[in-house]
Amino acid sequence: MYVVMCYRCKKWRVIPTKEEFEAIREREEEDPWFCGRDPGAGRSCEQPEDIPYDRSRIWAMDRLGIPRPPPETERVLIMRGDLSKMDTYYLMPNGKQARSVADVERFLKENPGYRATMPASRFSFATPKIVRETVEECSQWRAVKADQRGISEKSSLSWAAMADQRERPEENSLLGDARTQSERSEETDASDSDYCCPSSSGGCD
Ligand SMILES: [Zn+2]
Repeated sequence: MYVVMCYRCKKWRVIPTKEEFEAIREREEEDPWFCGRDPGAGRSCEQPEDIPYDRSRIWAMDRLGIPRPPPETERVLIMRGDLSKMDTYYLMPNGKQARSVADVERFLKENPGYRATMPASRFSFATPKIVRETVEECSQWRAVKADQRGISEKSSLSWAAMADQRERPEENSLLGDARTQSERSEETDASDSDYCCPSSSGGCD
């Protein structure tokens, strides 16, 4: 789930696609997003907030100004299993992962035809900041998750962007990633009755 904060009404709005979200994120600083930006989307500042900013979700605040991924690439963020941080990589046209500028340079050296469409400057490995307060209530769940593989961005993360720096939950944070307690529970394996998030609904069954 991708979410952006309207700079006018300060409500969080769900953005339907990653592509749309990446376009907003790229321009958010110089051209802050607002509910009525896309008339066809039927949004207005009068509507109730799409999702609340609270501890029922894990939030990770991303940065603004990240260039949209070059054509034929995909920018992927993976949450570490212990929820400590996220890692960024690009899926390149040859199917390989680029995890650093050095990887990008190597790809361009081997595939010079791509230099025009994907200069190294179009890649950003900046990572969102996890809002600690939204995961610390789930230490038990987190301990279990630490033994499991990373969580894919595609599974159920949600992202948000907001332009007003004064209202950021954390300094230098710009985009949000929120996942509900139930979404997280679904991602754990069949044995998830062995643990739970006490904050979600009052304890384990
Ligand atoms: Zn609004």
